[in-house]
Amino acid sequence: MFSAREALERLKDGNRRFVADRKRAAQVGATRRNELTERQEPFAIVLGCSDSRVPAEIVFDQGLGDLFVIRVAGNIVAPSQIGSVEFAAEQFHTRLVVVLGHSGCGAILATIDQLKRPVEKQSRNLRAIVDRVRPSVWPLLSTELRDDAEALVRSAVRANVHASVNDLRHGSEILEGLIANDGLLVVGAEYSLETGVVEFLDGAPEG
Ligand SMILES: [Zn+2]
Repeated sequence: MFSAREALERLKDGNRRFVADRKRAAQVGATRRNELTERQEPFAIVLGCSDSRVPAEIVFDQGLGDLFVIRVAGNIVAPSQIGSVEFAAEQFHTRLVVVLGHSGCGAILATIDQLKRPVEKQSRNLRAIVDRVRPSVWPLLSTELRDDAEALVRSAVRANVHASVNDLRHGSEILEGLIANDGLLVVGAEYSLETGVVEFLDGAPEG
């Protein structure tokens, strides 16, 4: 099994291939599928946004069995996301967790809109997502960012990734234990829709 650092290098290498348009012959064929019928050893857990433009396996150039991926609009952390991460970290001994936000995230834009002009009839289910993004965005609206729409979205995306990283690091005794004693690493990252580059943030080791 890969250490968190080794796993991070694999993701960085894969993203470099994706950006350079030099993707490997994808590990998605029948041979690979047959190898995986009885077991799996995903080397990284990715909590990403559901946005159709940010599929983790593609932007990191990985194949079947490589990544344990949780996708939800706005890459928010609710109990079922924490449970999914706990499951993979315990079951497969995966030691790297990446929270993957992205530029121009619709969930962030919707939250900003909602804060500026509250909508009466938002669905309760959609509101459950906005409610989890709001604490990251709200403080930014009382700064000079308020009048710079692009900078506001950029900062809000990062603040939201940071909040999810924090929730995963401190919202679970199991994950806290694995971080303290077993080399589990939780880092943030941001994908650029424009360049395809994933930039690692929030405590990702250099190199
Ligand atoms: Zn998004």
